[in-house]
Amino acid sequence: MSGTLFIVAAASGTGKTSLVKSLVASDERLGVSISHTTRASRPGEVDGVNYHFTSREKFLSEVGAGQFLEHAEVFGNLYGTSRTWVEEQLIKDYDVILEIDWQGAAIVRDLMPQAQSVFILPPSLPELAERLNGRGTDSAEVIAHRLSEAIADIGHYADFDYLVINDDFATALADLRSIVRAARLSNRAQSQRQANLIRRLLSGG
Ligand code: 5GP
Repeated sequence: MSGTLFIVAAASGTGKTSLVKSLVASDERLGVSISHTTRASRPGEVDGVNYHFTSREKFLSEVGAGQFLEHAEVFGNLYGTSRTWVEEQLIKDYDVILEIDWQGAAIVRDLMPQAQSVFILPPSLPELAERLNGRGTDSAEVIAHRLSEAIADIGHYADFDYLVINDDFATALADLRSIVRAARLSNRAQSQRQANLIRRLLSGG
């Protein structure tokens, strides 16, 4: 598999989804995996675009069939990454982003140690609280719960290769682009992609 797998995680409300959407829109060799989830869709979310929405029963049978690369329970709902889609993309030399939580990140890191992982941090907790309120799609109780969960999520920052602060959106996006670019220039990626060139150079021809 020659494509690079990127894991992007953050506490809820950090702006991860918007950043990943912009990153992918400007890069045709980069795709984002659409997760499967048992949570109800939020207003504006489209099945097959934001998530593949599914029942708990179907999800668990797919877990049994080994269809997920990783799966985890987050806020009482199940989330999982399709194994086939990700592997197909990487084989075709496309790079893939997994927007998943820290538990899923730990599983993928074990399975694919070459994956590059990024944790996005908010600039402050008051700012994070404001962003969670600004979303306007969840109840006050859910928001309060997510803010306390956010601190626990942030506690996992040390497991990630890169830390990006989402204070200014454009700066955070540029940081993510730099990480993708650096990964594509890594010896592992380049020695596979440029195998013919390297062979020619070494053969003296
Ligand atoms: P939300 O329900 O707000 O869209 O997502 C809640 C959390 O679940 C976020 O941290 C998100 O990154 C995470 N998540 C979304 N898809 C997956 C997945 O496929 N696997 C795992 N492990 N976490 C996911």
